[in-house]
Amino acid sequence: MSYAQVIVDISHENVDRPFSYRIPEELKGQISAGSKVEVPFGKGNRLITGYVVGFCDKVDYDESKIKDIASICNKSVSPEEKLIGIASFIKEKYGSTMITALKTVLPVKKVTKALEKKSVIALKDEAELLEAAAVAERKSQRAKARLLYALCESPRIDYSLVIGKLNVSAQTVLSMEKQGLIELEKERSYRNPVSFRKDESEPVRLSQHQQYIVHEINKDYQEGNPGVYLIHGITGSGKTEVYMELIAKRLEQGQQAILLIPEISLTYQNVVRFYKRFGDKVSIMHSRLSQGERFDQFERARKGEVSIMIGPRSALFTPFSNLGIIIIDEEHEATYKSETMPKYHAREVAQEIASRAGGAVVLGSATPSLESYTKAKNGEYRLFTLKERLTGGTLANVNIVDLREELKAGNRSIFSRRLKELIEDRLEKGEQMMLFLNRRGYAGFVSCRNCGEVIKCPHCDVSLSEHRGDKLMCHYCGYEQPAVKICPACGSNKVAGFKAGTQQIEEAIHKQFPEAVVLRMDADTTKHKDDYETILSKFANKEADILLGTQMIVKGHDFPGVTLMGILAADLSLSDNDFRSAERTFQLLTQAAGRAGRGELPGEVIIQTYQPEHYAVTHAAAQDYENFYEEEFLYREFLMYPPAANMLAVQLTGPYEGVLDKLAERLAEEVKKMDFAAAPIQIGPAKASLGKKSDLYRRVIYYKHKDYDELVRIKDRMEECIRIWEPKKEMIQFDFNPMNTF
Ligand code: ADP
Ligand code: ZN
Ligand code: ZN
Repeated sequence: MSYAQVIVDISHENVDRPFSYRIPEELKGQISAGSKVEVPFGKGNRLITGYVVGFCDKVDYDESKIKDIASICNKSVSPEEKLIGIASFIKEKYGSTMITALKTVLPVKKVTKALEKKSVIALKDEAELLEAAAVAERKSQRAKARLLYALCESPRIDYSLVIGKLNVSAQTVLSMEKQGLIELEKERSYRNPVSFRKDESEPVRLSQHQQYIVHEINKDYQEGNPGVYLIHGITGSGKTEVYMELIAKRLEQGQQAILLIPEISLTYQNVVRFYKRFGDKVSIMHSRLSQGERFDQFERARKGEVSIMIGPRSALFTPFSNLGIIIIDEEHEATYKSETMPKYHAREVAQEIASRAGGAVVLGSATPSLESYTKAKNGEYRLFTLKERLTGGTLANVNIVDLREELKAGNRSIFSRRLKELIEDRLEKGEQMMLFLNRRGYAGFVSCRNCGEVIKCPHCDVSLSEHRGDKLMCHYCGYEQPAVKICPACGSNKVAGFKAGTQQIEEAIHKQFPEAVVLRMDADTTKHKDDYETILSKFANKEADILLGTQMIVKGHDFPGVTLMGILAADLSLSDNDFRSAERTFQLLTQAAGRAGRGELPGEVIIQTYQPEHYAVTHAAAQDYENFYEEEFLYREFLMYPPAANMLAVQLTGPYEGVLDKLAERLAEEVKKMDFAAAPIQIGPAKASLGKKSDLYRRVIYYKHKDYDELVRIKDRMEECIRIWEPKKEMIQFDFNPMNTF
């Protein structure tokens, strides 16, 4: 390659387009993606530093005008250089432009006004706070007590956390300030949201199994051979304690750690555990941080002010100078795969980052992804298993109820006879329960009972859903219209919503169990940023008997008081037409079943289903991961789905159906002309499962092949075609081993 593309300013709001520079003879072979170089810039040829982001053989303008790279900066490799190397890896592996890949990995500085931050500060010592908390509790001032207890643990808490995660109202804070218990402090700079007294007491003593894992991983380190590890352990089996011990060891050696947690599990309790152990060495990221705040967090990491970054997918790109370990908790979660270009998987990128840094990767899950478990079986990852729950409590008793039998017996309600009995029993005893509807998406569609006509969104290829009976909404584009009373196809007045959403179930509960207090948690009731925590803390405070909700309620929350979990229709997630639906169902049912019986009281789980014999249902009921894995893998192997093979989804969108179809056909033709040692399996081009969205048509072509690199070649070829053909309005995206159907 004769030329290098160099970007000269990576802290700018918009990562600049690269400039081309000639690579002088003496530097050939020494420059790679990420290299920091000095280049002459502008009219005066002032020397400035830049980063190499790519290479090319020709440029489309006067070659004599191109300047030479002056030199390579040979200092130690900076975090930026490493990240640019990663961007280049991501671009190659998943397909996107270099600019988009760079924007994904580099913290982009945005000029933001310094926000005024408020904190709540305790004015009393711990004993007085405890006393005040006890008084508040006696007066049933729950929110006040909650804040006081929290202040015992940390004398200063960010105001937004108090209002948000702790769910204390502004009035309560004000009245406590008047009472002289607390003070509101305003500060300008960004700091950690919580400041904790580091808990100096000894951490828990690890069990033998836990110690073994820690020992083995640290041993590989000492031998200079850190690898990838999978810890398979049910919730409560002590994985987090293992993570903390591993992190502590890396910190001792002057290294840093990244811990990825799905955003939904980043709760106050989880966060506090890390602050208590590691004090202000910890930094937390979440999607609600502004660009500026995110940048600040990364800056602190770069300067060495923090050594542990906890957060969702994007925390992976923390610019630590000496990264020792990346831990991914709940590694099976779909949120680790990016839904926008580049559609990278955090698990794979973590391995690339760690191997470049000479660090380890630890994956943890109660229900490992098929991908990871397969690698563990092949010996690519090392597998550890934690079997016992350390918090006590017995595993719940799981019953499968066949809904077909209920129908035969004349029971048309959403609740089977057994579930109804148990709900009544718990209400009588004053114990809490959860009802889970594993339906992705929203309340049901609206159709005509006479002719079957479905009322659809005019801009998308989906049906509209009913909201409070008086309007219809599209959940993809936000389109709204008044409810339809008369069928547009046949004129009958039998138009009605299909009742299966959580809202309808809530109504049914009110009818059947009028005395029950219900909290509902779904996409509709968690629109505002703190709704989620508010509902959870209300339930934890026993302000309701029943928590009803979608999959949000089964992820990572402990309610020791819950003694009944009802899974209303286990089949709903099986009917998604997607090769991962059995796996997703198994994970959800296993997690749901694990929710009951966490405390001292024994728990009971009811799984209602029309397919009681389905292997995802039976194995989840038995909490039998191994056998589920075996059966599921056979299915993937038989149909050549990941992880038995690799799969590429080529996703095309555009405003004109005919133009889009032609483009899809042409691309497929180009691939047919390529040489392959073994030909890929091609499916499509076809209409995507969502055929139109916001007036854009959608098409998809799938390729399957044993060899990932062959799919990368297909992607490269298509990118080239698009570059040459320059379609006007049509867009192409690539999704390798997709998590969702397009
Ligand atoms: P997981 O991450 O697998 O859900 P945790 O590490 O959170 O499990 O452990 C569950 C609970 O058990 C926590 O309250 C933790 O403090 C406690 N625990 C974990 N390991 C031990 C141990 N060796 N001894 C005593 N308690 C432990
Ligand atoms: Zn729409
Ligand atoms: Zn009709």
